[in-house]
Amino acid sequence: MTEKEIRKAAYQVLKYTNGNVCYSALCNYIQSKGFIIVELHTEAGNDILKKFGCYEQYANEKGIAVIQKAVSFVIIDSNLPTADKLHILLHETGHIDLHLLNKSTFADISGVERESQAELFAYRVQHFGKVRYWIYKLLCR
Ligand SMILES: [Zn+2]
Repeated sequence: MTEKEIRKAAYQVLKYTNGNVCYSALCNYIQSKGFIIVELHTEAGNDILKKFGCYEQYANEKGIAVIQKAVSFVIIDSNLPTADKLHILLHETGHIDLHLLNKSTFADISGVERESQAELFAYRVQHFGKVRYWIYKLLCR
């Protein structure tokens, strides 16, 4: 996956959220991809993982996107500061869009490459900026 493809994927998130990438808008985006948001260390979040028999497996995660059997989750530690939660959700969104929903790239690249691509994706979304988003929208549609 090239940097240009990562930038394009990041732009899709900005487009979906209309340039306003806040925590709840990002949750909506992730849910639109068929993933359930699980807020770990909340009663509801813990219950979902227990229901699917994977609470112990993920109880210590800060954030992770997984496709477990027929269910897709993004698990996020609810105790993290809001800014960290947003960044981790963006990183996991990168894994969803670049890797999990794109099996060919998942197999092609190493775990280290996947991590750096997810970080680059998160960076691109967070540092695109609202003004640049509107300019990009006008010029590059
Ligand atoms: Zn990662």
